[in-house]
Amino acid sequence: MKDEHREMLDKRLTPMHLYRLTPRTNCRECGFETCLAFATQVIVGQGDLDLCPYLDQEAVRPLREQLRQQHAAGIGVKKEGFEKALHFLRGEIRKWDFREVARSLGADYSEPEGGPTLRFAYFNAVVNVTHEDIGTDSGEALGPYDKILLYNYVIGGAADPAGIWVGMETLPNSVSKIKSLRGHCEDPLAQKYAGRLSRLPEAVAGIGTPIELREERVDFAVEFPILPRLGIRVLWWDEDPAEGFAARVKFLFDQKVLETLDLESLLFTCEQLTDRLLAAAR
Ligand code: SF4
Repeated sequence: MKDEHREMLDKRLTPMHLYRLTPRTNCRECGFETCLAFATQVIVGQGDLDLCPYLDQEAVRPLREQLRQQHAAGIGVKKEGFEKALHFLRGEIRKWDFREVARSLGADYSEPEGGPTLRFAYFNAVVNVTHEDIGTDSGEALGPYDKILLYNYVIGGAADPAGIWVGMETLPNSVSKIKSLRGHCEDPLAQKYAGRLSRLPEAVAGIGTPIELREERVDFAVEFPILPRLGIRVLWWDEDPAEGFAARVKFLFDQKVLETLDLESLLFTCEQLTDRLLAAAR
């Protein structure tokens, strides 16, 4: 694990890597004063690649996953930004009565030596949230994004799912995230497994359950229980070169998902899931 982190650190993307892929016209359409400012903010996790419509997409495509992994590992990100967010959330979480919220979150409550603790599943790990920090049963370290997401889950509370599955485009105020979901998750997964859907049952084993969805005419569908009250469905349609159809993937969410997680956290969760499925394909 340490070696992987070291390797990622050595090969990390820098603002100059990204700057070279911009047209360097400083047109400000991305909301930043210069192309260099844009590149810097994206690398430190304070801006989105899709804000610049002029990036060389061919060149950027292979960097997206690298940047996601870099951010998830906390590499290159603006530490003060994360630290500030985590400090604020820790302050908030101390006001929470864990015993009271445990049931609605689908968590177990206990009071070991470390103080009140909520214990629940997150992907294929079991996390323990205390008033001081968050750890896993396996001892695997969580990145700052994961901790922010988990604190948000506890603080925001979780709604009982409506049982109606919808695409991101039907969620309120999701316009800016639809493109990111497609570019970061749906398209890479469609391309990675095109013509190889038979590998999916093995790839999702342990993190998701294949489901039958006849009315959608999908070739493969899986439900991933990410958190106790948060599931994500991923649908696959395989390519059909004879008919000229490219492979397609669609993420679905419960209609009430935003009562459980904010959009930013939801997109991060989809990216985490995508990373796991892309890694499984390798
Ligand atoms: S939109 Fe692109 S080209 Fe324009 S300033 Fe931003 S990074 Fe530079």
